[in-house]
Amino acid sequence: ARPVVAVIGRPNVGKSTLVNRILGRREAVVEDVPGVTRDRVAYDADWSGRDFTLVDTGGWEVDASGIHLRVAEQAEVAIELADAVLFAVDATVGATDTDEAVVKLLRRAKKPVILLANKVDDQRTEADAAMLWSLGLGQPYPISAIHGRGMNDALDALLDVL
Ligand code: GDP
Ligand code: MG
Repeated sequence: ARPVVAVIGRPNVGKSTLVNRILGRREAVVEDVPGVTRDRVAYDADWSGRDFTLVDTGGWEVDASGIHLRVAEQAEVAIELADAVLFAVDATVGATDTDEAVVKLLRRAKKPVILLANKVDDQRTEADAAMLWSLGLGQPYPISAIHGRGMNDALDALLDVL
């Protein structure tokens, strides 16, 4: 069976942009403003000749008070159904409390995780990615989902754990 890869992370970190980058086409809805309500959406994807199902944990209602909980809930479901997880963090923002909460879920689930430090659009911001070693999930892969930077290394790492 095709392995399932879930893309998780806070709203607006670039999950859907990443999904589109991997698919090589624009299918996942990219939103400048977080808050679109949408369930998980699965796509047939492949990388280097390997097929997998890519799950965009599209959107969840964002409200200032409940955001932390909702992200964690959504992430929990996605982690459960996945064989491996792409955990996207916005490197320009750094690790937030919500990110830390997701890390706890990931630890408990014991699924393989590739930590993606997104929005590293150029070399100047690579240091932002290195800050994410603090999450304790191993190497952060600096990527720019929007430009495609760093995707080869990150996805090769994913295939290694599938
Ligand atoms: P999601 O909520 O996690 O699915 O995030 P989206 O994919 O909808 O993207 C949220 C915003 O971040 C959009 O304005 C994207 O254009 C932007 N974005 C996504 N990836 C990158 C990136 O690599 N670099 C920069 N600078 N912006 C990005
Ligand atoms: Mg999205």
